[in-house]
Amino acid sequence: MTACPYSDKLLGLTEPISRRDFLDGVLIASAGAVAGAVCPFPLVAQSAAGPVPEWSGYTGEGDYKDSAGNTEAVLRDAHAVRDGKFDRAPAKIIETGELFDCVVVGGGMAGLSAGLFFHQQAGEKRTCLILDNAKIFGGVAKRNEFLVDGHRLYAPQASVHFQPPYPNSFLETVYESMGLDWEAFKSYQKWQGPSPEFWLPRSPYGVGKLNGKDALGFYFGAKYGHKPGLWITDPWGKNLEGTPFSDATRKEMLALMKDKPVVSPLVYDYPGDPISRELDGMTLEDYFIRTFDVSRDTVRLFMTSECASGFGLGPDVLSGFLQYEWSKTIPTVDDSMESGIQMFPGGNSGMARLMVKTMIPAAIDGARSMEGVWKSPLNFGALDQPGQRVRLRLESTAFRVEHVGQQGKSELVSISYTKGGELYQVKAKTAVMAGGGWITKHLVRDLDESRRTSYETFNYSPYMTANVAVRNWRFLYKLGISSAAWFEGFSRSINVRRSATFGVDTDVVGPDLPTVLTFFVDFAKPGLPARVQGQMGRAEILSTPFSGYERQIREQMNEMFGPSGFDAKRDIAGIVLNRFGHAFINPPPGFFFGLNGKPAPREALRGGPFGRIAFSHCDLAGAMDHRNAFIESHRAISQLLDSVLT
Ligand SMILES: Cc1cc2nc3c(=O)[nH]c(=O)nc-3n(C[C@H](O)[C@H](O)[C@H](O)COP(=O)(O)OP(=O)(O)OC[C@H]3O[C@@H](n4cnc5c(N)ncnc54)[C@H](O)[C@@H]3O)c2cc1C
Repeated sequence: MTACPYSDKLLGLTEPISRRDFLDGVLIASAGAVAGAVCPFPLVAQSAAGPVPEWSGYTGEGDYKDSAGNTEAVLRDAHAVRDGKFDRAPAKIIETGELFDCVVVGGGMAGLSAGLFFHQQAGEKRTCLILDNAKIFGGVAKRNEFLVDGHRLYAPQASVHFQPPYPNSFLETVYESMGLDWEAFKSYQKWQGPSPEFWLPRSPYGVGKLNGKDALGFYFGAKYGHKPGLWITDPWGKNLEGTPFSDATRKEMLALMKDKPVVSPLVYDYPGDPISRELDGMTLEDYFIRTFDVSRDTVRLFMTSECASGFGLGPDVLSGFLQYEWSKTIPTVDDSMESGIQMFPGGNSGMARLMVKTMIPAAIDGARSMEGVWKSPLNFGALDQPGQRVRLRLESTAFRVEHVGQQGKSELVSISYTKGGELYQVKAKTAVMAGGGWITKHLVRDLDESRRTSYETFNYSPYMTANVAVRNWRFLYKLGISSAAWFEGFSRSINVRRSATFGVDTDVVGPDLPTVLTFFVDFAKPGLPARVQGQMGRAEILSTPFSGYERQIREQMNEMFGPSGFDAKRDIAGIVLNRFGHAFINPPPGFFFGLNGKPAPREALRGGPFGRIAFSHCDLAGAMDHRNAFIESHRAISQLLDSVLT
């Protein structure tokens, strides 16, 4: 793919997107050539230097403007830690003179909930500081905002939805304590003409319905010999008839999709029993092959992006235990798309805002109502004020965390961080590491051998979401669909969704109104070792300028939807890319229960604190989920309160 000024104009690459802020990012960027077929290995080396020029683009509006995914500032500071800039304690550092009972490193769902639990359980006089390196808290649970033709629209940067918990459960208590009001999720946007009406899901993962059938279309383009492309609507209802897949592939895809095993599936009673260990001893891919008698190629074709949307990579490198992760380890009252799944209009950033409002009431003006917390702007200045029991310090990248003196005898932990180009140090009686395993291993300087070895076994992969605001989605409606899926090119699917009405400015939804389409993008390269897949993916997202992805999106949407009336130049109102370099841990076989009689490496980190330092990032659970973030941080805070801060 090459950049051509004439085609850029037709695609709308030179249009100001949403607001003038975008101009800096894209007008300059669009002049640059874009890498075509990516030759990954040189890129891995090249990308170690950091992102290419014109990497950033438009980032949306409101509180989350300038904080879409990992920003260049976050990358620069984190890479300096990775590359050893702070391996020796800096000679010059500003001692703030502050002493906290607990410092939490990381302000995502794990770090915020660690702060919340500390706030609730440690007693009135205990103090806590949460450090986060981004411009706003939330980690992957952030949102994008767009202003389109007078409508304010929201979309998740990554973490999307949640489910109702069991009554009186740990999770119900946590949600209640942060002020999550289930009543607010009883009203979602209603259909506003024309007829026929589509049923729309509440999450970008759900598929719409039309007259009781899936309002889904499969698209087949050049890879399948179709130019112009071929649409097959309601493909599952038609048993894939009319698709260019071979008969054998169709049969195998249907067996996987319609859950038709040929041998008894391995279903465990409780985590740790012999069947769960057997599952953990194989890859998910081998489990699918064994259970459904399907080929490796079909598993890779059909299951990779689905698995990657939860675990970053495909079944070729993941533990078979993940077949039941979530459904069996964190069961919920209702997990269905029709009635169970719930979503703030911009995803789980709503929960992050609620937690912050609960810990720091002045952070958001007004009462702790769902609408108020969602819509009122943040008072950034209120987050870090002396005298608060919980303080939240943003744009602060921790680079050294260590016991003062000898671990075991030490009474304090020192936490050093960069902020605004200066180096600072605070002291704490305890620390919680909630920033993710990929960085924690570089931060805790005096970490013992077993925990260090444990971290070395973990692999992480990147992930990207592209939120594309469109002025209407009539081009889908004309095709008789609200959901589309494909097997080539950029991303794999999109779905139109409706929003909970407390968070948006209109209580109706329809094809003539603007919406945001979320393109999920994984970087799986089935067949390669997990670590290599992660490295190649990070190289790809660091080496592609904003305009490179923008051009792919515009070209692909014109190709797929142009015949049904779509025009990228006219219809795209804004694009935000959210790139996360270490979005998901990729648990391999043995991650959950260990292999060859050895304990699972992660247990060294979960079993107890290292001196005064506990570990709560949710990747330790093996399944990235806000509920696991709560569970891990509750464990970490309990460990510190029970055995350290007595
Ligand atoms: C595409 C995608 C979709 C998802 N969908 C869902 C979903 O629908 N539902 C769900 O429950 N979960 C979902 N998840 C999982 C999500 O990862 C978890 O729910 C949860 O948000 C992870 O929280 P965390 O705090 O462990 O990690 P993170 O969100 O990564 O937070 C870590 C924080 O620490 C900060 N940090 C890192 N290093 C430092 C440092 N040195 N100094 C200071 N700060 C630092 C980071 O900037 C970040 O803010 C999704 C994830 C992705 C990527």
